[in-house]
Amino acid sequence: MTQNEIIRQTEENVLHTYNRFPIAIDRGEGVRVWDADGKEYLDFMAGIAVFALGYHFPGYDEALIAQIRKTLHTSNLYYHEPLAEASKKLVRSSGLSRAFFTNSGAEAIEGAVKAAKKYAWLKDGRGDHEIIAMNSSFHGRTVGALSVTGNAHYQEPFLPLMAGVKFAEFNDFDSVLSCVSERTCAVILETVQGEGGIYPAEAEFLKKVRALCDEKDLVLILDEIQCGMGRTGKMWAYEHYGIVPDILTCAKALGCGVPVGAFVLNEKLAEASLMPGDHGTTYGGNPFVLAAVSEVFDLFEEQQIAAKAEAAGGYLAEKLDGLMAEFPQLITAHRGLGLIRGLELSAACPVGTVANRALEKGLLIISAGNNVLRFVPPLIITKEDTDEAVEILRGVFSEQALVKPEENL
Ligand SMILES: *Cc1c(COP(=O)(O)O)cnc(C)c1O
Repeated sequence: MTQNEIIRQTEENVLHTYNRFPIAIDRGEGVRVWDADGKEYLDFMAGIAVFALGYHFPGYDEALIAQIRKTLHTSNLYYHEPLAEASKKLVRSSGLSRAFFTNSGAEAIEGAVKAAKKYAWLKDGRGDHEIIAMNSSFHGRTVGALSVTGNAHYQEPFLPLMAGVKFAEFNDFDSVLSCVSERTCAVILETVQGEGGIYPAEAEFLKKVRALCDEKDLVLILDEIQCGMGRTGKMWAYEHYGIVPDILTCAKALGCGVPVGAFVLNEKLAEASLMPGDHGTTYGGNPFVLAAVSEVFDLFEEQQIAAKAEAAGGYLAEKLDGLMAEFPQLITAHRGLGLIRGLELSAACPVGTVANRALEKGLLIISAGNNVLRFVPPLIITKEDTDEAVEILRGVFSEQALVKPEENL
């Protein structure tokens, strides 16, 4: 099919919940993709932080093909080697104790919330526990995950959602403290807020939240679905802060392309929360996706992917600082850790326009929040890839600098 045929047929038949970029992705190789008309792009969004290893990283496809030949699926009523292997590797890397695999990030959040509630319920038998979540957070689109997502626009049409969620200001410990009651059972936050606009947690804030949770026996859930798996330069973003959550949620790059997520509990939670009959999934953590996860952990270790991300992130940060210095009227801030970075753009420079112009010039890049250009490239990008992306963006910003404000409306 031609690109236009693909787009037309899709728009006729798929529920319109996305305003898609006007290209159809056909295939990828390394850090590049090609559209259905054969045009090449440098990929700095990586399927939204999924393709940490890029496309067709040596060893990855082979591991999946070998598992396809054995079996794609079985039931969670049976044991299988990919489950034994992937769980061991995830538990070891996270410093936590027990993993439950899901099909998506949102489902990892659902499981984490249930585990926290069950832990609290076993302690005091109350049916009115509260969870503290953060403003401008993002945890997913299912009803439970949406309930802890601090974005009124996403929530409003679907009210009432799960009861008992209070929202605090991210990086404002007093605001968290003011939400605590005798009903509080958990605090959930992203170690680096992604969709909200790339805001890393401040060290003092996160340490205080950890201490508060310890003091009051609250469950600290860190959502590293976007910022985990080496993206910040360490395997898990919380390693930057010298703390460990009670529950970690991960997904996106966990399988580097297959749909898989997980929530991982520490020993205390694992001993006293979800028991047989409390939680389940038909597909979650099936042999196919966990063969991918298992291989991903091996490749990350062998290839020192987190260290690569740290180095590549440092180089990208330098280049983005340079762009900001060059276009101070268009770029108002630069935030991030490793290879999760954001450039905040001024009103004179709509982020949608920048992403569309970049696409035309051969760069895939997306936004976060209302006005942040988001960088979540594959963790294997080279200096040359970064130079190329920054050169394309320099071209886009140079054009934008010439646009009169009224032409942007
Ligand atoms: C993407 C994302 C989710 C939701 O994951 P899905 O797989 O889309 O359900 C949750 N939390 C964070 C931080 C995310 O970036």
